[in-house]
Amino acid sequence: MKSTMQDAPLLIRDILRHGQQVHGDSSVVTVEAGGHRSATFAEVATRVEKLAAALTRLGVQPGDRVGTFCWNNQGHLEAYLAVPSMGAVLHTLNIRLPADQLAYVINHAEDRFIIVDASLIPLLAAVRDELKTVETIIVAGEGDTSALGETLSYERLLAAEEPGFEWPDLDERDAAAMCYTSGTTGSPKGVVYSHRSTWLHTLAEQAASSLGMTETDRILIIVPMFHANAWGTPYSAWMAGTDMIMPQMFLMGEQLAAVFNEFHPTLACGVPTIWNGLLALDTPIDFSTVRGITAGGAAVPQSLIEAFENRFGATIIQGWGMTETSPLAAFGLPPARKHDGHDDMYYKVKAGRIVGGVEVRVVAEDGTLLPNDGRSVGEFEIRGPWITASYYKEEDPGKFDDGWLRTGDVGTLDAQGYMTISDRTKDVIKSGGEWISSVELENAVMAHPDVFEAAVISVPDPKWSERPLVAVVPKPGRSPAPADLVEFLKERVPRWWLPEQWTFVTEVPKTSVGKFDKKVMRAAFAEGDYEVQSTPLPK
Ligand code: ADP
Repeated sequence: MKSTMQDAPLLIRDILRHGQQVHGDSSVVTVEAGGHRSATFAEVATRVEKLAAALTRLGVQPGDRVGTFCWNNQGHLEAYLAVPSMGAVLHTLNIRLPADQLAYVINHAEDRFIIVDASLIPLLAAVRDELKTVETIIVAGEGDTSALGETLSYERLLAAEEPGFEWPDLDERDAAAMCYTSGTTGSPKGVVYSHRSTWLHTLAEQAASSLGMTETDRILIIVPMFHANAWGTPYSAWMAGTDMIMPQMFLMGEQLAAVFNEFHPTLACGVPTIWNGLLALDTPIDFSTVRGITAGGAAVPQSLIEAFENRFGATIIQGWGMTETSPLAAFGLPPARKHDGHDDMYYKVKAGRIVGGVEVRVVAEDGTLLPNDGRSVGEFEIRGPWITASYYKEEDPGKFDDGWLRTGDVGTLDAQGYMTISDRTKDVIKSGGEWISSVELENAVMAHPDVFEAAVISVPDPKWSERPLVAVVPKPGRSPAPADLVEFLKERVPRWWLPEQWTFVTEVPKTSVGKFDKKVMRAAFAEGDYEVQSTPLPK
């Protein structure tokens, strides 16, 4: 029997229209060095229509890739809305990628057009000669464009157009946007989102069981718009009428504190490194309006969550996801009914609770399905309407298991759907046949009052095959001794996890999106770049 329901396609055009018609007086604030500019959704929407008209006049065809090489700002949001709505494909380019990888992803995606922020011209110019498919470069903002050859001005293009673009009818399964993984574990791979996947992800993010954005919120979007769609927040904030605060810079430390104090967000999202950086400041920060800080992309240490609660009265909520999962797949609000007498913190340190709409399972190395008992450790696999089923132009069946995406993340799933990530498969430490969780070990070391940051990698060992090496960044003016750190850990981790190899560094290498870069650390260790201090093996 057929339903009586209308069959409306789920299109980004209609997310755009909704925000335009219903939330026209919500605002988008772009924070720049030394100032900010602001526009209402209604004003942004008019410019979105003009952008689509300008791109059409330039010859953008359905399915054409339009790259963006931009900060978080109003213009980038305009491209997020205009490019997919007109039937083209938005390709967000990571402005921190090394030149060879940047050229690789632009050529691989076959971008025909690129919109670049003027301040980023030198980075794009460095690869201009290697770009095989790019015909037109559009520069947003003022700057010397000569290094790029012939370019067009974003503002002049818009000035020549009228509002009222006629958005086309599209198939909801058509490509809307694409993003390459940041390549923590190999060369970047392309994920292509559809209108439908973006639409459903947007609804999931609006649900009160996840970010639950409303018109009364102001969200500070620190996670870059070039990385996993800024966790989908530009679309969900637009749909909900949430004011957006977009930093046109890598916002950290004092500048981040100043943005909190000036713009009073209710929500903010960014990787844990960003939040950890605030703890090093003495500046007073006004968190009184903040109802939730979302952290994800890497494990959030308990010490960080506690420090935010105790010092700032601010709640950090953890989320889990990947470029491949749009990215929101789990969100860490504690449950109403806590099992076995656990407190809220027990749940907050987990990666998150599975979001309605996706399915997650844990699979053992031999392929057996493991129980959701919070104890059985295996690789997470995931499926659902906003999870990729393949990589662009790549047959990589190794990552896909009978319709499920193999995430490369290892951990446990409990009976209430909370995921605990102990490692990535590439980072796992197998010592004497047993797994040591580098993530848990790092978090335990970072709880020490003298430690600012700590990252753990696996190093070869003749007896145990692998053992952990801990790289520690001490807090300024502190110099914790390995023996003291081991003593501290004795209460916190199993005895056989206690590391006997330590190195003290000024910073942990980070990926282009601010995660610990263990690939670089392993290479540094192999090159003998780390001065390793040893403590005796625990008896
Ligand atoms: P890349 O794979 O290049 O790092 P992604 O941004 O797609 O790019 O990263 C997704 C990965 O980030 C996940 O597979 C997981 O390893 C890690 N991650 C994301 N959120 C969390 C979290 N809350 N806890 C631990 N790891 C996380």
